[in-house]
Order: sequence, then C-alpha cells, then structure tokens
Amino acid sequence: MSTLTVEAADVYYGRVHALRGLSFEVREGEIVCLLGNNGAGKSTTMNMLSGLVRPKSGTVQWGDLDLATARPWDIVSAGLIHVPEGRRIFSTMTVHENLLLGGYTVKDQKQIGRRVDEVYALMPRLAERRKQQGGTLSGGEQQMVAIGRALIGGPKLLLLDEPSMGLAPLVVKQVMETIQAVNAQGTTVLLVEQNARAVLKIADRGYVVETGSVTMSGPAAELAADARVIDAYLGG
Ligand code: ATP
Repeated sequence: MSTLTVEAADVYYGRVHALRGLSFEVREGEIVCLLGNNGAGKSTTMNMLSGLVRPKSGTVQWGDLDLATARPWDIVSAGLIHVPEGRRIFSTMTVHENLLLGGYTVKDQKQIGRRVDEVYALMPRLAERRKQQGGTLSGGEQQMVAIGRALIGGPKLLLLDEPSMGLAPLVVKQVMETIQAVNAQGTTVLLVEQNARAVLKIADRGYVVETGSVTMSGPAAELAADARVIDAYLGG
C-alpha cells in the first residue's frame, strides 16, 4: 500500500512562508481534493510532491519514496505524475505527438502504444482529433490531452492542478467524469481546485487549505454540506 503522507511540511520562497506545517494524507485508490483560494499554497504543494520545490522541514513520503529528497525524474518513474496548472500542451504538435511525449520515462515502445490506445478508448474525442494541432483545440480538449499525456506515463498517483480552470460548466463535468473513470481503473488521484462544487462531487475526501495550512478536512459530502465551506468556496 502506497499512502502519500505529508506531515508538518514547511516551504519558503525566500522570506515568503508558503506552506506552514501542512499535513494531509492520500490513501491508495482515493480521489482527494485540496480546496483553497488564490495563493493558499495549492500549486506549491503539488510542486513539492513532484520534487520541484523542497520542504525546509516536515515529512513528504509516498510508500517508501522520500519525496522531500527524491529526484523529480525518479518520482515520475515511480508513477507520481503531475498535470500542471495551465495544461502546457505543445501548440504546434498534434494531439498524438503530445500524447507520445508522456512516455518519456517509459522504455517499452509497445507499452506506450498500448497506453495511447487506452487513452483514445477513454477519450474518443481525442481519437477523432489525433492529427489536430494542440493549439487549435478547445480548452476542455487541451485539458483532456494534458490528462491523457500523464496517463501514458502509467501513473499510480495522478496530481491534477486546477483541471477545471477556465472551462464552461458542461466541460468541467466531462473532465470530472474522465477523472472518475481514470480513478475507477485503479489510479489514485489528488487534485487541487478552486472550483469546490465540481470537485466535491467526485472526491472521496477533501482538505481546505488557507495560507499554507489545513483548516478543515473530511469526507467530500460532509465538506459540501458545511456552512463554512458553502460560504467560502461554494458561493454562499
Ligand atoms: P493559485 O490558485 O493562485 O495558483 P495557489 O494556492 O496555487 O494559488 P501558490 O501558487 O502555491 O498558491 O502560492 C502560495 C504562496 O507562495 C503565495 O503567497 C505566492 O505568492 C507564493 N509564491 C509562489 N511561488 C512563488 C515564488 N516562485 N516566489 C515567491 N513566492 C511565491
């Protein structure tokens, strides 16, 4: 069992204290969300898990891998794959070429081919658009490519940074359903979102992060019914 455990993590950018004793846990098979407003520390948390920023103190452990010291390459190779905020797909490359890039840590070319086929089965819209340039896709399609590309790496734990950002409600629903389908196929999911409404519908549990610390946590249904969450994150 590979549980992700973050315990009392502190991250600084110079004098900015971005994560302040942050603690949370993601168990295998779960969908867990971190909710928080701009600047709460959500992206910093994701970057810390990927080895891109280092905690000054605290524990960041995934199974037997110490994420506080492991190299980013080794973290990806172990199956912790991060879809960053803003998607970052390559606009002059086709959908298919963008997906293939997700196989950069995978040695077996046949394995990559099988996974691309699985992505097309999961997201038929991408199969239809396999030769289309990334930059001409809609926002929702670009998000699907970003998720699909991560799946080519064979994630055990998928990190998604604001997958609903800038998308219309119907498209958000489709993206959330895709995330649910990925989870149902055995991938653990951690996502950070400002869009609490969409994400609490698919998550098992959630944490509210404010100025770098967890201020509330619980089952998603309980958070969605909590007056403080409704006030702060569900638009009253
Ligand atoms: P958003 O939803 O706006 O992306 P967030 O919850 O992801 O916000 P972070 O990007 O993690 O928040 O930022 C947390 C805090 O750290 C903020 O106060 C931010 O200004 C600060 N911060 C983030 N990156 C840097 C950096 N490279 N240098 C200095 N301060 C930073």
